[in-house]
Amino acid sequence: MNILAIGAHPDDVESCAGGTLAKYAKAGHKVFTATATNGNIGSATLPMEEIARIRKEEARNAAALIGAEYVCLDYDDEMFFEDKAARLKFINLVRYCKADVILTHNPVDYNPDHELTSKIINDIAVMIPIAKLKTDSPPYDKIPAIFYFESAQGLGFVPAEYVDITDVFETKMAMCYAHKSQDQWMKDNFTETVGKNEGNYFESVRITAAYRGMQCGVQYAEGFIAANDAFRVRPYRILP
Ligand SMILES: [Zn+2]
Repeated sequence: MNILAIGAHPDDVESCAGGTLAKYAKAGHKVFTATATNGNIGSATLPMEEIARIRKEEARNAAALIGAEYVCLDYDDEMFFEDKAARLKFINLVRYCKADVILTHNPVDYNPDHELTSKIINDIAVMIPIAKLKTDSPPYDKIPAIFYFESAQGLGFVPAEYVDITDVFETKMAMCYAHKSQDQWMKDNFTETVGKNEGNYFESVRITAAYRGMQCGVQYAEGFIAANDAFRVRPYRILP
């Protein structure tokens, strides 16, 4: 299969689904990681172009750890809005990857870029085969299955599916720590919250994985909700 994990920012998919991606790659599936934005506000000191360049490099390095390919749609961090071009860019991305499975943010999250990324993926999934929607990559005749991953802290998220990531957990952490520039950024911005966990954000990733592992009886796990169950296609009901 072809697996596409798309997050809003460099480090989202590694934090929230890196273990599952490592397992897909290990099993011989083709894995793509992608971000809607280039993370260009993720530094208090560097110019925007420079931090964007660094973060894309870090995302490429993280993907390389599992033999995945990284694609950046290059929107501005926290200034990502939907329009016709954005929709077509997303359609092109999914077509380029010929995705069978897409992992993305939960539609309800704490960050507007996360929520919009999820929304556009949900909206365009049915448009992949439509030939009248012209993109560089040609249409293909498949509507990918979508699964939502949780935020790094797992707030307000009740998984319906679990993946045992115990055997690839250190790979997941290495993918997270490939985002070296974010260590300092998280310390600068989140010291009073998640940063207190041994002074680094990615420690919260370890705690969430251990917590989800406890829920399903393994050491470390990642949790997901199938889009069909949650949001995209609901079985209709008739009011009594
Ligand atoms: Zn993010």
